[in-house]
This record gives sequence, C-alpha cells and structure tokens, in this order.
Amino acid sequence: MPRTQLSDRVEALRLQREALGRSRTRRTVTRRDGVRCQVLDGSGGGRWLLNFCSNDYLGLSQQFAVAGALQHTAASQGAGGTASHLVCGHHAEHEALERACADWLGAPRALLFGSGYLANLAVVQGLLGEDDLCVQDKLNHASLIDAARLAGCKLRRYPHGDVEGAVRQLRTLPDVAALLATDGVFSMDGDIAPLRQLVLAARVQQALLYVDDAHGIGVIGPEGRGSVAAAKLDATQVPLQLMTLGKALGGYGAVLVGDAGLIQHLSETARPYLYTTALPPALASASLAAIALARKDHWRRERLRALIGRFRDGAAQRGFSLLPSTTPIQPLLCGDNARANALAQALEVRGYWVTAIRPPTVPDGSARLRITLSAAHSEADVDGLLEALSGASESSGVRSPAHASLSPA
Ligand SMILES: *Cc1c(COP(=O)(O)O)cnc(C)c1O
Repeated sequence: MPRTQLSDRVEALRLQREALGRSRTRRTVTRRDGVRCQVLDGSGGGRWLLNFCSNDYLGLSQQFAVAGALQHTAASQGAGGTASHLVCGHHAEHEALERACADWLGAPRALLFGSGYLANLAVVQGLLGEDDLCVQDKLNHASLIDAARLAGCKLRRYPHGDVEGAVRQLRTLPDVAALLATDGVFSMDGDIAPLRQLVLAARVQQALLYVDDAHGIGVIGPEGRGSVAAAKLDATQVPLQLMTLGKALGGYGAVLVGDAGLIQHLSETARPYLYTTALPPALASASLAAIALARKDHWRRERLRALIGRFRDGAAQRGFSLLPSTTPIQPLLCGDNARANALAQALEVRGYWVTAIRPPTVPDGSARLRITLSAAHSEADVDGLLEALSGASESSGVRSPAHASLSPA
C-alpha cells in the first residue's frame, strides 16, 4: 500500500469544504475608523463597510487613552516581551495589570497569559490529569474543548445550558477530580450560562467551577465585572474566571482571575504559561488604560444596552426572529450554509459587514449571521443595518424576512 499523500488529502478536503459552503476566506482591512472599515476587494481597491462583526463591544480599541498607553510604553520599553515570565520577561506593567484585574473582579490573584486560547489550555492541562474529568457545556468555546483534549482527561459534554445534564455527567465519574467549565456569555449565541445553578451543581458534586467570560467582561454586570458579578456571585463561589483582553477591552491577551493557590500552581506548572514569551509590556499598558475606562464609563454599557434594544425591536417588527440574547451578540439563524453565505454577501453589497458563521464553529444546520453591536455604533447605524437586512433577505432568495430564521436544530 502506498502511503497517503498529505497534499492529496488536503486538496480533497478543500474541494469538500467548497461543496459544503464551508470555505473560509480572510478579508484584508486596510483602514479602521471607529466602526467603519476599509476592506480590500477582489480588484485590489478598498471599500468602506460598516462593521457589525467585531468584538470591540465598548469601542475601546481605538480610544486615545488605550492606544496612547501602548505607544508610550513601547517607546520606552520596546516592542517585545523578550522572554517568558519565569525567565526575565515579567515586567512591572504585567504585574500592575494582574493587580488591576484582581482588584476589578474582587479576587485574590490574577495571572496574565498571551491569549485566551493559551489560558484555557493552561487551566485544564495544569489542573487535570488522565484520570480526571472535565465536564463542559456543548456550546463552549473551541479552546476549552481543545484544552480537555490536550490534558488527556475524560471530557463529557452536556446539552447547552442544561444544569441537570451537567450533574449527570459529573455523576458518571464520582471519585475523580473534576472541573466544570462553561462560557459565561456564549460566543456564538450570546446567551448567558445559568451560573447560580452551576455553582450549586459544582458544590454538590465537589467539582471546581471555571467560567470563561471572554464576552461578558466589560459588557455586563456592575462596573462591567462580567457574568459572574452579574449573577451576584464572586470569587469564593467561582474559584477561576477568565477575562480576555482582545474583545471588550480592545487589546490582546487574557487574564485568569481567582483563587491564589490554584493560580500559583498554574504559574509554576502549566506548560502554556511556562513555554511562551510574555505579552509585550506595551499591550499590558493598553489593557490597564482600557480597564480604567471600562470600569468608569457606565455610559458605554448603557448605550450598548439601548442599541441592543433598538436592534431587537426593529428586527421583531420586520419579522426576523433572533435568538434570545440580551448581550451585544445577536445571532440571526439561517440554517444552511448557502443561505448564511448569501445573506452575508447581500449585506456586503449594501455596505454592511457581518460574517456568516458556519460549522464546525457552530453545530451542523445552524449557520448564522453573528451580528455584534458596539457602543461605538450610532442609532442610525443600527437602523441602517435593519433596513439592509430586510433588503438582503429578499434579494438573497429568502422569501420573507421571517424565513431568514429557523429554530435551533
Ligand atoms: C475569543 C475567546 C477565547 C479565546 O481568546 P483569545 O484571547 O482570542 O485567544 C476563549 N474563550 C472564549 C469564550 C472566546 O470567545
């Protein structure tokens, strides 16, 4: 038997993705101006689009105080992190950022990572071994799923938001150490995990609860402290929380916040923490500035809430049914990939950028437009999007707006 040629396999898979409407292409942004982006088109020209798919929920990424802090630290401290934290890469700006995050969430300790993806790998790989159990919501972010695979632990998933299901999965292995992990705000659906019930489930089953709040931090809860604080819970009930710095905070990186002993352990043993270069100190400065704004600028969250309400009301009036989300993530389910692609394309023609999210990022048959709102949008931007959605759903072959949405599979 001749050996399988990887290049042949890759070509076959490419054709398969194409046939299924699952091809992925990057778009190149040449300029950003608030929620407007100039995007390269096929002919090499640039076209300005109104962006409704970024995670810059508070509009902080282009704030002068945030970008200015980055510039200021880079000018004096250089561009890079130069080494891992445990060698000589740990800078006072990193230390200050960790303190600010712990203080914000009211937790004893915080640890800065290069990204949320790495932080999730570190938590699961650093805490669980082969015999241990990781129980997860089916719609958790891919990095949490990959984390359990890397750890080599037993991974058991429960139906989305189903606390009874979580308990059942925990009961399947009652004698081993267990981590119960959930997104706080689900990244592709925008709904919020039933955290108070999950706290009880974890307590009864003696599992450790870990909440990945990449999309909740800055956006919900008092002072933007996220979904744990919004559920009136704190660091004693949720011993580990993840905040990422690349979404509402407009920068890059991630901070794990929680129990001092657990975090100390991860800082000394987790491979995705040890064997990677520290974040550039200038990026830590940017996040410090962003956190100060996120904490005090309540108007950003209020504005966002008003825009979410306006969008949902307008969508309902036009016969679109959205998933039940109160967060800036407002998905419009399309079902099949072709329909999602066609709708995204028809929106782009009208000057709006909303990426079609397709499997395997979301379950089969649940392709969607993941519309995200930002405090940087205006009411007129939202009204324009609604108008464009109506036109796009008709021109893209969806017979009436109501048909643009199917109930989840
Ligand atoms: C984006 C995201 C991550 C990954 O964070 P990065 O900093 O972008 O690597 C992890 N978890 C969730 C829920 C996310 O949405």
